[in-house]
Amino acid sequence: MSIVMPPPDAGVLARRADIVRALRSIVPGEGVIDDVDALRPYESDGLTAYRQPPMVAVLPETTEQVSRILAWCHAEGVKVVPRGSGTSLSGGALPLADAVLVGMAKFNRVLDIDYDDRLAVVQPGVTNLAVTQAVEDRGFYYAPDPSSQIACSIGGNVAENSGGVHCLKYGLTTNNVLGVEMVMMDGEIIRLGGRQLDPAGLDLLGVVVGSEGMLGIVTEVTVRILPKPEGARALLIGFPSVEGAGNCVADVIAAGIIPAGMEMMDRPAIHAAEAFVNIGYPLDVEALLIVELDGVAAECDHLIHKVADIARANGSTTLRLSSDEQERMGFWAGRKAAFPAVGRIAPDFYCMDGTIPRRRLPEVLEKIQKFSRQYDLEVANVFHAGDGNLHPLILYDANIPGQLDRAEAFGSDILKLCVEVGGVLTGEHGVGVEKRDLMPVMFSEADLQQQQRLKCAFDPELLLNPGKVFPTLHRCAELGRMHVHHGAVPFPDIPRF
Ligand SMILES: Cc1cc2nc3c(=O)[nH]c(=O)nc-3n(C[C@H](O)[C@H](O)[C@H](O)COP(=O)(O)OP(=O)(O)OC[C@H]3O[C@@H](n4cnc5c(N)ncnc54)[C@H](O)[C@@H]3O)c2cc1C
Repeated sequence: MSIVMPPPDAGVLARRADIVRALRSIVPGEGVIDDVDALRPYESDGLTAYRQPPMVAVLPETTEQVSRILAWCHAEGVKVVPRGSGTSLSGGALPLADAVLVGMAKFNRVLDIDYDDRLAVVQPGVTNLAVTQAVEDRGFYYAPDPSSQIACSIGGNVAENSGGVHCLKYGLTTNNVLGVEMVMMDGEIIRLGGRQLDPAGLDLLGVVVGSEGMLGIVTEVTVRILPKPEGARALLIGFPSVEGAGNCVADVIAAGIIPAGMEMMDRPAIHAAEAFVNIGYPLDVEALLIVELDGVAAECDHLIHKVADIARANGSTTLRLSSDEQERMGFWAGRKAAFPAVGRIAPDFYCMDGTIPRRRLPEVLEKIQKFSRQYDLEVANVFHAGDGNLHPLILYDANIPGQLDRAEAFGSDILKLCVEVGGVLTGEHGVGVEKRDLMPVMFSEADLQQQQRLKCAFDPELLLNPGKVFPTLHRCAELGRMHVHHGAVPFPDIPRF
């Protein structure tokens, strides 16, 4: 395990009993958890290789309680880690030993649905899928659909700018959030955006979406809801080579077609998914594409045949067109269950998340295979091919000494490769702790300092979710004027991890 977190503040740990008492005065009853065993469920998120029970967890139910908690922690210099459902794959919700974990699970109500304005106002602990479930009887849905949608919260989606299969056509979370209510670290409650399309002033909502719990705690979210498309059809396309599938993806987009989803799996992922869901994926191919078109029937039919022609021109060997809803859902079942399916073929897997220009897919996949041989670890690839967003799943066994370190080194080589070919370190899972130390691969020190200045404008004491995203901790005051004179580093008390 290579990632080092900031060392806990012994002074804060010594005040634990006082901190628990103060939190109980704000959130009475069972809303404050300080028992060591009861804190265990919070010790990690989806990046399970890293574990750290929080100093104490608090589960507020109202914005006012969140505001009082943050104001108190701010005044007392106590760090805070926000948490939604804990499914982050980058360790964004990983607790700190000397921090209060603020769990938002009790913010679980849909507050308002406005079909005329096509929006829903929800609390941040509402799960992604529950938003669609709240509006589907009237023929509406919430478009961003992470594979974790049954569990992940809208607050977590906002913090990670989450994506999913349908984001190729309908945009990521940032394109589907109209406004938030957020509590700042000093307890101030602010509203950004609202029920209208384009609020006045700087786009601070755009800054908050994707800010990984570092700028404030979101207590209410207004999302767009869309009418369900009249129809949808999907194609299941098998290729004898990854190159053919990669070129097909690029050619579909180049032809001006924006599918509702365009996903790809390689041979190990296809086999794992088929063994899990048994829906008839072809097992004699190297790559499988699932392409979905939606809209009115005539448009769907027209475009799906164009996609089929492009697939044939790129050497596809299997081509199945969904004839009804059941078959279409079947095509997706394996892809949606790909993570748990891969979880059955290895004791552990490490899910990477990088983005590359679509045309570079075949070459990048070939290099990933080379890394796989070099590190002697298997890899299965599932990805949002239309967006060029890769999810290599590196298989390892945490019980075999050294395998986790090898998996991390393998993952880090994949992410560096993504940047090398003109892509980025993260697609939709965020930086968190997982990619924190790789940030300098993509950003210069000046870039990183500029990003930290933005963080400082919201949270000058750096109390919210510290140790995440930024590889070096700079005190806000020193940003931009760090000068080491005769080897004497200014602010020597700042932990530089
Ligand atoms: C099996 C599986 C499949 C997945 N598939 C996808 C996928 O297809 N697409 C995708 O994008 N992601 C995917 N993920 C990752 C994960 O589900 C998303 O990042 C999700 O948005 C996290 O939501 P959460 O509620 O679990 O947040 P958490 O994990 O609890 O927290 C994530 C981050 O959000 C912050 N946060 C949480 N709530 C708030 C709040 N109210 N205010 C401020 N900050 C907050 C936390 O501090 C942390 O930094 C997957 C995860 C798993 C386990």
